[in-house]
Amino acid sequence: MERPDLERALARLLGPAEPEIGCDECFAELDRYVELELAGEDADAAVPGLRAHLEGCPACREEYESLRALVGGERAL
Ligand SMILES: [Zn+2]
Repeated sequence: MERPDLERALARLLGPAEPEIGCDECFAELDRYVELELAGEDADAAVPGLRAHLEGCPACREEYESLRALVGGERAL
C-alpha cells in the first residue's frame, strides 16, 4: 500500500527546509490555494508553507477566510 502522505511528510523532513513564505507570496498564491482546497485537492502540497503562514499571520488568515467564503459562496450558487 502506497503512503503518499507519509512520503510527502518524509520528503519535507529530509529535503530542504520547508520554505517560509512571506505575506507577498502568500497573497499571490492564496487564490490558487483556496481553489485547490475547495476542489478537494491537496492545497498544502501545491503551495508549501502557506498553511503555516496562515497559522502565524492574522492578516493573511483573515484574507484567506474571506476569499474562501467568497469562492465557496460562488460555488454554492
Ligand atoms: Zn501574512
